[in-house]
Amino acid sequence: MTRKSIRTTRQRTEVLAALAATEGFSSAQDLHAEIRKRQGGVGLTTVYRTLAALVKAGSVHVIRSESGESLFGHCSTAPSHHHHLRCRHCGRTVELSNDGFEEWVRSVGERYGFTDLTHECEVHGVCSRCASHTSTTGEGTTLGS
Ligand SMILES: [Zn+2]
Ligand SMILES: [Zn+2]
Ligand SMILES: [Zn+2]
Repeated sequence: MTRKSIRTTRQRTEVLAALAATEGFSSAQDLHAEIRKRQGGVGLTTVYRTLAALVKAGSVHVIRSESGESLFGHCSTAPSHHHHLRCRHCGRTVELSNDGFEEWVRSVGERYGFTDLTHECEVHGVCSRCASHTSTTGEGTTLGS
């Protein structure tokens, strides 16, 4: 094993530990902050690079927040294919699978003669916990376009 690959392994371990410590999905900046809190010596650029490698390997999932930010997380049902339902207030993420959506995608491909289909789907909303919190205060809930 070369020196470089040992370092890469340690960086992965630190990034994965930070992922495990943060609930749900977090941005690379949040994970970097968590690593620093644990006295880890991984720079932000390395965090990005390591996350990209982990996503490619399928051990980490990336979803996009409504503002377009990439958020990373560990899914319990990975590596099996699934989608995510995410609360825009608290970030709670639910894994969705086998809900008829895959069937629909397949049928659309068949209908139009497309093969080798890929798709991305994320559902954003407000979870029941947050809905009960925010319903009492009118402030902070702007109804945008
Ligand atoms: Zn996932
Ligand atoms: Zn919520
Ligand atoms: Zn799917």
